[in-house]
Amino acid sequence: MSDRDGKIWKDGQLIDWRDANIHILTHSLHYGMAVFEGVRAYKTDKGTAIFRLREHTERLFNSAKIFQMNIPFDLETVMQAQLQVVRENKLETCYLRPLVWIGDEKLGISAKGNKIHVAVAAWPWGAYLGEDGLNKGIRVKTSSFSRHHVNVSMVRAKASGYYINSILANQEALADGYDEALLLDTDGYVSEGSGENVFIVKKGKIYTPDLASCLDGITRDSLVTIARDLGIEVIEKRITRDEVYCADEAFFTGTAAEVTPIRELDNRAIGDGKRGAITEKLQNVFFDAVAGRTPQYSHWLTIV
Ligand code: PMP
Repeated sequence: MSDRDGKIWKDGQLIDWRDANIHILTHSLHYGMAVFEGVRAYKTDKGTAIFRLREHTERLFNSAKIFQMNIPFDLETVMQAQLQVVRENKLETCYLRPLVWIGDEKLGISAKGNKIHVAVAAWPWGAYLGEDGLNKGIRVKTSSFSRHHVNVSMVRAKASGYYINSILANQEALADGYDEALLLDTDGYVSEGSGENVFIVKKGKIYTPDLASCLDGITRDSLVTIARDLGIEVIEKRITRDEVYCADEAFFTGTAAEVTPIRELDNRAIGDGKRGAITEKLQNVFFDAVAGRTPQYSHWLTIV
């Protein structure tokens, strides 16, 4: 991805895409402590808009706080940087990647004294789990890898190093011919996908795991709000994998994955083995919201 035209915001300045480099001895590259966001901008009638910009930026700052990484910019500046990157690259719809990392002053576990850097890049990115996945649903496999334990990793942070676990799970699922992995927590309860939160629908009610071992997803929060506004009850609780097998519907949510139906888990068809009616309804309301077609949710959008 390094050989492209365009601009990347790095430490307060817009620089050429090809010049947005780091040194090989960058601390974060060696030990995995960096925090990041995944954000999307969508085309609306009023122009391109970033979806839930403030919430993503606040989560980035909270992630940094958890690791005692002092971001040398304020929240407003990092929000403006994201708007600027979309604008400068003339992107109509795109994915944004804000990243905070520890510099190359020295190596060793202690990062004390090393500089904290911030960058924001943006590029066009279509349906993460495929257009077909959005329409027909995907096939998922329960992972042999467990999701994070609360006293090993602090999952309120969206941290680069945590994604080793995600990559292992995703690699395994793909190698076995599935589209994505579902990870269980260390007690064996359903946690989340490698990069998505998970929901099930049973008898008209929606269930999703509590936040003990999964990321506090912003799409998750949006879907909970949308469902409750539609009068559908949403319950956060521990979920077992066989509850997913026996659910009427299931779906993943995430900035990249948006709202992706799950049609099969571990070779068991979920419901009718296709996108369910409630999932489709929620998907439609979500895609209307991100495209600025729902005045009720216009506060989720920041026009570029
Ligand atoms: N869980 C994990 C592990 C993720 O990487 C993501 C994507 N950021 C999510 C859940 C969904 O979070 P969000 O809706 O904020 O993108």
